[in-house]
Amino acid sequence: MTVRTRYAPSPTGALHIGNVRSGLFAYLYARHCGGSFVLRIDDTDQERSTKESLDEILQSLAWLGIEWDDGPPDPKYFQSTRFDRYREAARRLLREGKAYPCYCTAGELDAMRKQAEREHRKPGYDGRCRDLPFAADIELPGANADRKYTIRFRSPHEGETVVEDLVKGRAVFDNAELDDLIIFRSDGVPTYNFATVLDDADFQITHVIRGDDHLPNTPRQMQIFLALGLTPPAYAHLPMVMGHDGSKLSKRHGATSVFAYRDAGYLPAALINYLARLGWSHGDQEVFSPAELIQFFDLNDCGKSAGIFNPEKLLWLNFHYMKERPLDLLAREVRPFIEKRGMQVPGDDAWLERVVATLRERAKTLDELAEFAGFYLRDEIQIEAKAAAKFLKPDIVEPLRVLASELDSLDGNFKEEAIKQAFERVMDRYQMKLGQLAQPVRVALTGGTVSPGIFEVIAVLGAERSGARLRKAIQQASQPGS
Ligand code: GLU
Repeated sequence: MTVRTRYAPSPTGALHIGNVRSGLFAYLYARHCGGSFVLRIDDTDQERSTKESLDEILQSLAWLGIEWDDGPPDPKYFQSTRFDRYREAARRLLREGKAYPCYCTAGELDAMRKQAEREHRKPGYDGRCRDLPFAADIELPGANADRKYTIRFRSPHEGETVVEDLVKGRAVFDNAELDDLIIFRSDGVPTYNFATVLDDADFQITHVIRGDDHLPNTPRQMQIFLALGLTPPAYAHLPMVMGHDGSKLSKRHGATSVFAYRDAGYLPAALINYLARLGWSHGDQEVFSPAELIQFFDLNDCGKSAGIFNPEKLLWLNFHYMKERPLDLLAREVRPFIEKRGMQVPGDDAWLERVVATLRERAKTLDELAEFAGFYLRDEIQIEAKAAAKFLKPDIVEPLRVLASELDSLDGNFKEEAIKQAFERVMDRYQMKLGQLAQPVRVALTGGTVSPGIFEVIAVLGAERSGARLRKAIQQASQPGS
C-alpha cells in the first residue's frame, strides 16, 4: 500500500499553529513512508471562506516548506468544485434508503435539544422523520425549495463502531448513541462529515491524520464510508495543542498564527522543529533538521496526551537555528526586518554579512537581529543618558582624542588586528586597562554599554562612522551635563 495522507484546512481565518501541526504530521508521515501528501481546501462554507485566508494558508505552508503533491491550484482539490459529486452520492444514498429527508424546523430541533437537556440526555436528533415515506428520486434541497428540508444519514442503531486509532488506540462507539446526522443542509450545501468522506475516498487517502477534536466525527464518517460501499482509511488523532493553563491554545496565550511567527522573525525550520515535538518524540533528541524529521517521524512515537505550547522553548530553538544558519542566508533574511524598522543598509551584501556575523550569537529572532544592528545602520545614534553620564567624562577626552587620531592614521588598514594595536598604544600611553578605554568607546559608537567585541564593531562600522562618532562623544565628554 502506498501511503497517501492529506491536510484539509478551511480557509476561514488565519492559519493556526495548532492546526498546521496536524498538516505537518500528515506531511511527515507521507514523506517518511515514501507516499504522497494531498492539500485539500474545505471551502464548502462559501460565506466564511475567503481568498485572503486561502492565500494565507498557501503562503504559510510554502514558508514552512510543507510541499503537497496534489492540491491547489488544481481546482479538483477545492471542495467548492465538487458539489456535483456530493449531490450524486447523496442521491444514491436516498435511492437506497440510506438517507432521508428531514422536515424538522429549527424551532422543533431547538425544543428537542432543550428537552434532552432537561432529561440530562445527550442532545441529538430523535429520528422523527426517519420513517416518513418519501419518493426515492426526491430532489436534493436547494435554496429555492418551497418547503425547507435537510437530508439526514440513516445511521445504524445496532452494534458498535470501532475506531482503531493509530495514536489513541481503540475507541468503541455504541451506534445507538450516534444520531442521524445531516449530510445536506436545506440550502443545498453538503456538511463537512459527508464531503470529507467522499474526498478521502476519491483522493485515495490511506491515513487520515488530524486533531482529536474530530474523533467524535470518525465513527460517523466510517459509517458513511460503509454505506457507500467504501473502505474507511486508517485514522490517527493527535491530541490538541494546549496553552500553559491546559486550555486549548488560543489568542489568549499569545500569537497563534503561522504568519505571526514569520513576521516576528522566526525561522521556518525552528517552527517546524518545535511543532513536530509537540506530540511526537524520538528519544530525547530536541533539534531535528527537516530531513531528520522525515527520516524519524512515525505515528507510533506520537503521544496520547496534549502538547503544551511553550513559547520559550520555541524561542530557544529559533536562537539555535539562527546560530547555525549560513551567514549569507541570514543576511538576506534579516533585510526585510531592517526595512520594516525603517532603516536602510548603507553597504553591500558582504558588509551586511559582517554586521550579522558580529550579532548572530545574541539575537533570538530575525527582528531582534535587525534591532541589534541598528547602531551599524543608522547615520546617527542616540547615546543612552545613563551610559553617557557614567562613561563620557572629561578624563576620557584625551585618550579618546588620541585613539581617534590613531584610527585616522590606519587609513586603508582598518582591520581588527590594526585597531587592536591602536588601542594598545593608547592604553600604554595613559596607563589604562582595556575595559577603561573600550567601554567609553562602546558607548560612543553604539550608544550603549553592550555590544559585540569593540575591535570588530570598529572594523565593521568603518573609519568614517567610527571617527565621526568618537569626535561627537569627545565633544559630549568635554562638556559634561550639557
Ligand atoms: N476542514 C476540517 C478542519 O479544519 C478538516 C478536518 C479533517 O481533517 O477531516 O477541521
